[in-house]
Amino acid sequence: MLLDETYATQRIRLTPDTIFLLDKQGKVWEKIPCNQLPVVLQQIRLTSASWPLDNVADLYEKQYQEHKSEVSGIFTGVRIALDPGHFAHTSQMAQWEKKYVRAKDSLGVVQFIFEANYTWKTARILQDMIEREGGNVMLTRGFQLSALGITATEWLDGDWRKSVDEALQKKWIDADIHQSILKLKDSKQIIRNFFRAHEMQVRAEQINQFQPHLTLSIHYNVEETNVPDKNGHHWLHNNNYSMVFVPGAYAKDELDKPADQRSFVYQNFTGQISLSLIAARIFEKMISDSLRVGPVSLSDASRLKYLSDYSIADSTGVYHRNLAILRMVRYPIILLEPFLQDHAEEFYRLQQLNCRYITKQNDTLWLPCRILETAQTYYHALVLWRETIR
Ligand SMILES: [Zn+2]
Repeated sequence: MLLDETYATQRIRLTPDTIFLLDKQGKVWEKIPCNQLPVVLQQIRLTSASWPLDNVADLYEKQYQEHKSEVSGIFTGVRIALDPGHFAHTSQMAQWEKKYVRAKDSLGVVQFIFEANYTWKTARILQDMIEREGGNVMLTRGFQLSALGITATEWLDGDWRKSVDEALQKKWIDADIHQSILKLKDSKQIIRNFFRAHEMQVRAEQINQFQPHLTLSIHYNVEETNVPDKNGHHWLHNNNYSMVFVPGAYAKDELDKPADQRSFVYQNFTGQISLSLIAARIFEKMISDSLRVGPVSLSDASRLKYLSDYSIADSTGVYHRNLAILRMVRYPIILLEPFLQDHAEEFYRLQQLNCRYITKQNDTLWLPCRILETAQTYYHALVLWRETIR
């Protein structure tokens, strides 16, 4: 069931002078008088890992003055967090996190590609471009690493139970889940049932500590219905589309936990959603103009479950969706899905290492030209976005 205002009002009741946060039975567990809102937001901020000023927009001018870097350029004084989606460093890990495409190319040879590889390269190049113009950039993970600073395999081979204990201490999981995770023996299950969500929390925590003006969560999409056949192969197709997500659109049962209700109130009263939307619209337009991948059509949007059942459209190709990273980050954030990796032409392009990029540190990166084009497209979108926060 799609969250709409009706559902929200079952958990959050708004009156002209008070916000009521309700439990599952509809009983009030917290009342926030509207004239107390700045104080309450301040309290939420103090009890969370990191919380911005009461009004995110105020951040811009204040921190622009505080954090001018030595290089002066278009992005001087601007902090951008780049979040390369997923963490696989091997084909096995990519299969465990279910973020890969395996398909036969035009010569009938089976090819395997995985998303975490491309998201990191996109972020790394973009980081370079922004830093050359004086911007301050953080990446949530390094090459082939997870956000914990080690590979997922190193994490499994090490003292992974420590992370499970830490998650309990930080109240990211409850005691029952803590116990059930500790009992797991199978590495794949530990990755799927714990590490994926845990690593996401760590990403969000790092981003919140950085207090970025904008976060780009970088992803590459796959057609929703394209699950591997009995030989483990995906099919290739000729339908392509782009989309950009912003926070919001809580679905059924997603406003039951106090932490989720706090996120909801926070997002609605600090300008986080509207600032995210400004960036999202610029990026979607730039993707369709520059990468030549149009926004998802109305017929595809009504067919794709994650759009029809879990998202609310803002404008063409731009959707509110309650994805974990979008919910946990307290600053303007967009999640980018510029094209489908299982589109026949894109799949072909992603296998070519036909472009070379030389970084600021003189490292040579060989990568598909399509990934370089994507990084350049995002850079141009950022230049336009920068104008909106002057
Ligand atoms: Zn992804």
